[in-house]
Amino acid sequence: MRRCPVCQSYPTSVSHFHEIAYLHCKMCGLVYRETPEDPQERERYYRDLNPAAAVEVSKQELYGAVLDKAEQLMNATGRKGTGYTLLDVGAGTGSFMRFASRQGWDVCGVDPVPDQTEQPAGTDLSIHSGTLPDLSSTFSEFDLITYWDVMMYIDDPVHEMNLAFQRLRKGGLIYLRVRNHPVIRAMEKVWAATKFLHGWSNPAVYHPYNYSPGSMRTLATYIGAHHDLNNGRLTRGDAYGVGRGGRAIDTAKRLVERFTDGLHILSAGTWIVSPTLDVWLWKEN
Ligand SMILES: [Zn+2]
Repeated sequence: MRRCPVCQSYPTSVSHFHEIAYLHCKMCGLVYRETPEDPQERERYYRDLNPAAAVEVSKQELYGAVLDKAEQLMNATGRKGTGYTLLDVGAGTGSFMRFASRQGWDVCGVDPVPDQTEQPAGTDLSIHSGTLPDLSSTFSEFDLITYWDVMMYIDDPVHEMNLAFQRLRKGGLIYLRVRNHPVIRAMEKVWAATKFLHGWSNPAVYHPYNYSPGSMRTLATYIGAHHDLNNGRLTRGDAYGVGRGGRAIDTAKRLVERFTDGLHILSAGTWIVSPTLDVWLWKEN
């Protein structure tokens, strides 16, 4: 059976979602596909449906919070000055790049889907075609490298993070936004138990690679990075179209954020129960 791509352990259980087999690593908590996803199938999905466009609009509020936190952490690690450089991996339509550029960051992006690697409308920013290893060494070092909902598709996360780490300046940061899979599974159980009451669709989504706080901590340790894990901010409105009435969903999400942040504080940073996970990795200065 395929070994865990994070910690190399053999998986201990198998489950199925939409008839696809998923392996569970009991050592680090990663849940991953037995067979890696066909990149061409994924590319078709992104080109035909482009789910990123709707979701990106709802992320605007999160973008500012991430850049603020990056500047705070960089100041704390001793990186001073202005003209911060950013690389966004899996840049999509370039919406985060545009946002960061308006905030004064020097930005660069890379994305593997050819149709999306055009110049983002109304800017002189360009997105390079491919993945991190394809990026020429002209762009050698960055203060911040971001992966917004990208790690779920990376077949060799240890290799990817080592490469990203090599391209960081001293005191530089990597930001990863991922789904918090144990919470997604808990949501699925609640949905399964209550679905006769309403017409909502299953809120659970399984990706090729599904992370937990434990698998993220293991990944950070393997590449020798310091790490900081937090509840992720949620997107605004009903970006994924799971229910009726975006306003009600938005209010519910804000309540969930307050509740999960309360638990995070009460447990002294141990409990991360938001459906999304914010991960910061950094290099010793
Ligand atoms: Zn593992």
